[in-house]
Amino acid sequence: MKLTVVGCSGSFPSAGSACSSYLVEADGFRLLLDMGNGALGELQRHVGLYDLDAIFLSHLHADHCIDMCAYFVVRYYRHDGGRPVPIPVYGPEGTEQRLITAHGDTPSDRAMSEVFDFHTLKSGSFEMGPFSVRTEQLCHPVETFGIRVEHGGRTLTYSGDTGACEALDELAYGADLFLCEASFVDGKEDIPDLHLNGREAGEHAARAGAGRLVLTHIPPWTDAARNVADARRAYDGPVELAAPGAVYEI
Ligand SMILES: [Zn+2]
Ligand SMILES: [Zn+2]
Repeated sequence: MKLTVVGCSGSFPSAGSACSSYLVEADGFRLLLDMGNGALGELQRHVGLYDLDAIFLSHLHADHCIDMCAYFVVRYYRHDGGRPVPIPVYGPEGTEQRLITAHGDTPSDRAMSEVFDFHTLKSGSFEMGPFSVRTEQLCHPVETFGIRVEHGGRTLTYSGDTGACEALDELAYGADLFLCEASFVDGKEDIPDLHLNGREAGEHAARAGAGRLVLTHIPPWTDAARNVADARRAYDGPVELAAPGAVYEI
């Protein structure tokens, strides 16, 4: 499995990174996890506009899904070769309506579903191309899913946005790479069921026995080095920061 960080800035884009978006590839299948602000531009550094095979949206906050409106334009009004077949989009209940509302004035009520094949997420396991996938609802103000992606005996877990919760430990259990959000600073922001801080991300990685922890979704106003240090105190394995363009062979 190959993971490419397309964008990793938390909550809003930074000068150097788009918001959440991660490309996962195996056996020629390309799965995109989230498509936040600015992700569609960055994505073109890594794959062609029509080379994705499936899209997973962890939740419907703008920093995880808003570039789907731009991607609708790309697919609906394709200039060369006609409109592609609808691409599977796995998202929470209401994803289609959310994108219609965010885009505004679509050519018809059905336009969004003419380019996106919407599947409503629930907690559970299913196959997606070559991947065995498990999703769990996590703890965030809107319905939000974390995802565990397995292929060839290797495992990637992506937290999406979440506060500390048991379901995340299960999702990350034994993961070779745990891509975990760390938006908050320990002792500074203390709001339950919203985001993790560096210490909590480290504690989750330790309890799950993850092989490697990559911290992501750190907002530009947050001290990333502090969060890495806090995670390292709670977790013995390797900890690093996600960076745009970073590639991991899992
Ligand atoms: Zn977010
Ligand atoms: Zn969110």
